[in-house]
Amino acid sequence: MLELLRRIVEEVNNAPNLDQALSIIVRRVKDAMSADVCSVYLTDEVQQQHVLMATEGLNPDSVGNIRLAFDEGLVSLVASRAEPVNLGNAPEHPRYYYFSESGEEKFCGFLGVPIIHHRKVLGVLIVQGTRTEKFPEESETFLITIASQLAGAMAHAAASGDIERILQQTDNTTDDSKPLSGLPGAPGVAVGTAVVVYPLADLKAIPDRRIDDIDSEIELFNRAIESVRQEITALSSRLAKVLPSEDRALFDAYLLMLDSESLGGETIAHIRQGNWAAGALRQTIIEHVKVFKEMDDPYLSERADDVYDLGQRVLAHIQQTNHKQMAYPAETILIGEEINASMLAEVPTDNLKGVVSARGSSTSHVAILARALGIPAVMGARNLPVGRIDACPIIADGYSGNVFVSPSKSVREEYRQLAKEEAELSSELMALRDQPAMTKDNIHIPLFANTGLLSDVTPSLHSGAEGIGLYRTEFPFMIRQRFPSEDEQYQIYRQVLEAFHPRPVTLRTLDVGGDKPLSYFPIEEDNPFLGWRGIRITLDHPEIFLVQVRAMMRASIGLNNLNILLPMISTVAELADSKFFINRAYEELIEDGLDIKLPKIGVMIEVPAAVYQADSLARRVDFFSIGTNDLTQYVMAVDRNNANVAELYDALQPAVLRAIYQTVQSAKRHNIPVSVCGEMAGDPAAALVLIGMGVDSLSMSASSLTRVKWVIRNITQKRAEDLLNEVLEMEDAQTIRQYLNGRFEVSGMGGLVRAGK
Ligand code: PEP
Ligand code: MG
Repeated sequence: MLELLRRIVEEVNNAPNLDQALSIIVRRVKDAMSADVCSVYLTDEVQQQHVLMATEGLNPDSVGNIRLAFDEGLVSLVASRAEPVNLGNAPEHPRYYYFSESGEEKFCGFLGVPIIHHRKVLGVLIVQGTRTEKFPEESETFLITIASQLAGAMAHAAASGDIERILQQTDNTTDDSKPLSGLPGAPGVAVGTAVVVYPLADLKAIPDRRIDDIDSEIELFNRAIESVRQEITALSSRLAKVLPSEDRALFDAYLLMLDSESLGGETIAHIRQGNWAAGALRQTIIEHVKVFKEMDDPYLSERADDVYDLGQRVLAHIQQTNHKQMAYPAETILIGEEINASMLAEVPTDNLKGVVSARGSSTSHVAILARALGIPAVMGARNLPVGRIDACPIIADGYSGNVFVSPSKSVREEYRQLAKEEAELSSELMALRDQPAMTKDNIHIPLFANTGLLSDVTPSLHSGAEGIGLYRTEFPFMIRQRFPSEDEQYQIYRQVLEAFHPRPVTLRTLDVGGDKPLSYFPIEEDNPFLGWRGIRITLDHPEIFLVQVRAMMRASIGLNNLNILLPMISTVAELADSKFFINRAYEELIEDGLDIKLPKIGVMIEVPAAVYQADSLARRVDFFSIGTNDLTQYVMAVDRNNANVAELYDALQPAVLRAIYQTVQSAKRHNIPVSVCGEMAGDPAAALVLIGMGVDSLSMSASSLTRVKWVIRNITQKRAEDLLNEVLEMEDAQTIRQYLNGRFEVSGMGGLVRAGK
C-alpha cells in the first residue's frame, strides 16, 4: 500500500497542471480502492460552493456543472465537519442530495475526506461503491493520506491562480486578483518583474525560462554534456587503482546515459520548444527519474538516483557558463524558494525593488538584509509557484505579506499609487532625520542603526542614527572563501568606527551557525539553532575569537568609541570565559605598546537562560542588548525561518513581552543601560511598548529609523507606560498588534504600519 501511495503521490507531483493531477488522482484511487466512483470537489470560496472537478465513475459531463452550496449534500457535510464521513447507505442520510445528471443513484457506500491545507478546507475527495456497506478502516486511512498529499499540490495550484482559473471556467463571476499570502518581511510595496533565482546545481529548483536564441542554448547544453563526459572519464581512470571494475561500472553507465539519444535528444527537443537549457534538462531528467522509479525491479528503480545525480552534474556545467549572464530588469523582484544573502548581493542595488522568498520569516537574515537596504520583502510565501513565474509581473506587499502574480490592471494601478504615497511618506519622515529622538516629555531615547555590510554604512550614516547599535560581524565572514585575517578585519572595523566617530559603535563578535553558515567552516547538525552557534563556537576556537577582538580593539585606537557585544550567551561561565579572552587580547596589545582603552562589554539577551540570569549577568557587564529575534524563537520554540510555524513567531507574544520586560527591569536594578537590537525595535507598534518598558535605546535597520523617531517624538513616556500596562493585560499577540496598530490609525499615521499613507 505504501509503495502504491508513493507512486500516486509522485505522479501527482509530476503532473504539469492541476487538471491532470486531479484526473490522475481519481483514476488511480478508484483502481487502488476497487471503488466504483472516485471524485474530487473543489471549494469555491467566492461562490460558497463545492464544485465537482474530476470524476471516474460519474457522468463526465457533470464535471464543472455539479455545484453544491455550503449546506447542501454529503460533500458539504465532509467539508463543514472537516473530518471523514463513511456511510453504508448514503441515500438514506438526511444530507444526501441527488443530482439526476450524475448517474449517482446506484451508489450506496460513501466515503468522503476533506482536503485540508493549513487548517483551510480546499476541497473534498470522495469514493463511492454499489455495495450497501461502509468502506473498511484501511480505505479511510488511505484516502486521508492521499488527500493530505493532494492538499499540497492544490495549495500550489491555488497560489498560481490555477484553481481560480479552473473555477472560473465553470463560473464567470470570480475576481482574478486574489493574492497569495506570505509573511511581512520588510516594509514597503514593490511593483515589478519576477526574476527567479535558485541555488546552483539544484535541479528540482530550476524554473522554466523562455528563450529566443535556441541555437546557443543547444550549444551550451552540448558543451556541458561534453564537460561531464570528460569529468567522468577522468574520475573513472583516477579511481581505477582503488575501485574494483564492478564498482566502476557506474561510471560506464553514466557515460552510456550521456551518449544516449534519450537524454540529449529529449533535452534538445525541449529547448527547441523554447525552454532554456537548464529548464529543458530538468524536464528530461525528472521524466527519466520517474520512469526508473516506477520499475518493479528494485535494482533498476534505484538507478533513478543515478540519473538525477547525472542531471545535477550536467546542470552544474550549464550554470557555470550561464551564471554570469543573469540579467536583472530595472524593477527586479527577486523570487526564490530560499533566497540567501549572496543572491541578493548580486542584483545591482538600483534594479532591486523587492524580494519574495518561499521560505523564511521576517527575522531570517535575508529579510534583515532587505530591511537594511530599504527594500520591501515577503517571506514564507509557501505556495509560491516558483518554477512558473519567472518574468511575470509581480506585486509584493511587505506590510501584509501579500504577493500578486500577474495582477489585473486595477490592482497594479492601486499598488503603484500606494508605492507613490509610500515614497511621499518616507520623504516627509526624512525631515525628522536631524531632529532629536526625544519623547514629548523630553526623554531622550537614542536610535542606533544595525548594520553589517560595508555598503550599508552610508545609509546608516545618513539616516540620523546616533551610532551603530549592532554591527553583525558575520557578514564579512560569510562573503569570503576563508576566515578574514586580523588585518582584513581591522580594516573593516576601522572604517566603521571612523565613519561614526565620535558616536558609539557596537561590534558583535562572530555569530555564525544557525542559519548563517560559513562555506569554509561546515557544521553538520540536526538542530543548528539549538547547536553550535555564536559564542559557543568562538569559545571553542579561541584562535578565531582572539584574532577578532584584537582586530576590534586595534581598530579603536585613538577613537575609543568601541563597544563589544557577545552573542548567544546562556551561562555566566560563557561570559566569564569571553571576558577572560578579551582581557588577554587587551593585555597583549598593551604589551605590544599600543594605546588602547578597554572597550565596554555587553551581552545579547537572546536566550531564555540569559533572561532568568539577567541579574547575575548584569553585575558583570556594562550593558545589555536584547536580541528579540532569537529571544522570540527560543521563548516560543519556533524556528525563526520556518514558515509553517511563522504565525506563532511574533515578538508581541505575551510571553516574549514578559521576558523582555523582566530583562529591562533587571538592567535598571543594576544601573546598566539596556537596548533592543532585534527587528522588533524597528517596528513602530512594538517600539511603543518598548518605550513604555523604559528601554534606554533602540537599534534597527537604517530604513526604519525615521518611522520610529516619529513614534518617539509623538508620545510621552507616561502614555507609553499606560499603553504597556494595557497590553500586558492582553493574552494574545494578534489582539496586541491590532490594538497598537489602531493607535496609529487614530493619530492619522496608519502609513507607518501598512501600505500607503
Ligand atoms: C537577534 O537575535 O535579535 C539579533 C539581533 O541577532 P541576529 O538577528 O543576528 O541573530
Ligand atoms: Mg541573535
